Amino acid sequence: MTMTFADLSLAPALLRALAEEGYTKPTPIQAQSIPMLLEGRDVLGMAQTGTGKTAAFALPLLHRLAVVPRLAPKRGARVLVLAPTRELASQIADGFERLGRHLTLSVTTIFGGVSQFHQVNALKTGVDIIVATPGRLLDLISQDLCDLSQLEALVLDEADQMLDMGFAKPIERIVATLPKDRHTLLFSATMPKSIAALATSLLRDPAKVEIAPPSTTVARIEQSVMFINAADKKTALVALLRTPGIGQAVVFTLQKNIANEVCAFITAAGITADALHGNKSQSQRERALDAFRAGSVQVLVATDIAARGIDVDTVTHVFNHDLPSLAESYVHRIGRTGRAGRSGFAITLCDAEQRAWLREVEREIGSTLTVQADHQWHSEAARHSTMRAPVLGGGPAKQIKPEKQRERKIWTEEQKRAARATARTVLETV
Ligand code: AMP
Repeated sequence: MTMTFADLSLAPALLRALAEEGYTKPTPIQAQSIPMLLEGRDVLGMAQTGTGKTAAFALPLLHRLAVVPRLAPKRGARVLVLAPTRELASQIADGFERLGRHLTLSVTTIFGGVSQFHQVNALKTGVDIIVATPGRLLDLISQDLCDLSQLEALVLDEADQMLDMGFAKPIERIVATLPKDRHTLLFSATMPKSIAALATSLLRDPAKVEIAPPSTTVARIEQSVMFINAADKKTALVALLRTPGIGQAVVFTLQKNIANEVCAFITAAGITADALHGNKSQSQRERALDAFRAGSVQVLVATDIAARGIDVDTVTHVFNHDLPSLAESYVHRIGRTGRAGRSGFAITLCDAEQRAWLREVEREIGSTLTVQADHQWHSEAARHSTMRAPVLGGGPAKQIKPEKQRERKIWTEEQKRAARATARTVLETV
């Protein structure tokens, strides 16, 4: 028998919101986590976005806030969710607002890159739920503008990414200000030793929930590659975007300027598009994402940095205008489609120069991509290219600076961490 949300004994106001959202049955992570969270158990969840993870923690926390009504503590909150990027924080807050729409609960986001004025104001009277990135939150705590000593529940979302981005210390310092007696949830897409150690230090006898390792979600995505000359990419992309059956699409480029160029090119071809990258202001990014979510923009052209957390269920296609210079970004990119149980398509445009990066991607995912050769731009030269991957930011002859800072073809763990820290700085400061 399939479980329904009603079987989970959630508050009627939540069941109403779920029905309005069109969620008919819990996703596996929801079915597994919600009962344990309602019992008050700490949970260690291994799951990535796209699995319904946000509702898996938002629903039981909202339920608890609703059935145990209490005034939110001044300058503080009842629930704190920590997330790595402001995009993700906004999405989580949005999830709480949507699911909690029939409850009178307040939700506030706290992240860097914007004035702290409104955040501090919202905090003054206390809020029920804070969704924050660690840097700015710690900043407000240090200024005595935020006091979380009355907190009831803490969620760390995408904990692996937070550690990768250098948030270990800020998290530790935030946690030191929280009551020991609290409900703690930790979600992570991967479980390296550092996360296991963090879990041990934060969680009490946690229930472990492991859902859909990335490959399972990725398995729903039909992936293929087109070998093509670099000069043909934009034209081919426009033709692909005009193919019947393509709904909304995310196009990935290596650099900000290419994102702008591609965006201008497809806009000139009559396709609605917007670019999303680290040079855009917070309000520009929000406007672009809102328009995309609302469906008034069909295509988002994004760099890797800006794309984390683009969470729009109606994305049917991901196009890689460029291969990512970091193989693991490929999986994150294509995960923008195939969400919420839907299928999706990921088409990669590979030129001779990026052929080496494709090999790294194929090594990372453990399989080769299906080659689409039946098109007018097919290039056997690109397909069989043995060119070395571009040296990013290096050599006078070839100067490619991806948004993620200077990269080398093969990254050490140290370099990856440094680049992610830079990514965070970009995200926190633009
Ligand atoms: P998340 O893993 O939280 O990023 O969720 C991915 C997407 O799944 C969200 O955008 C939700 O709209 C959708 N979703 C979450 N739970 C359900 C559900 N039970 N049924 C259908 N869609 C859902």
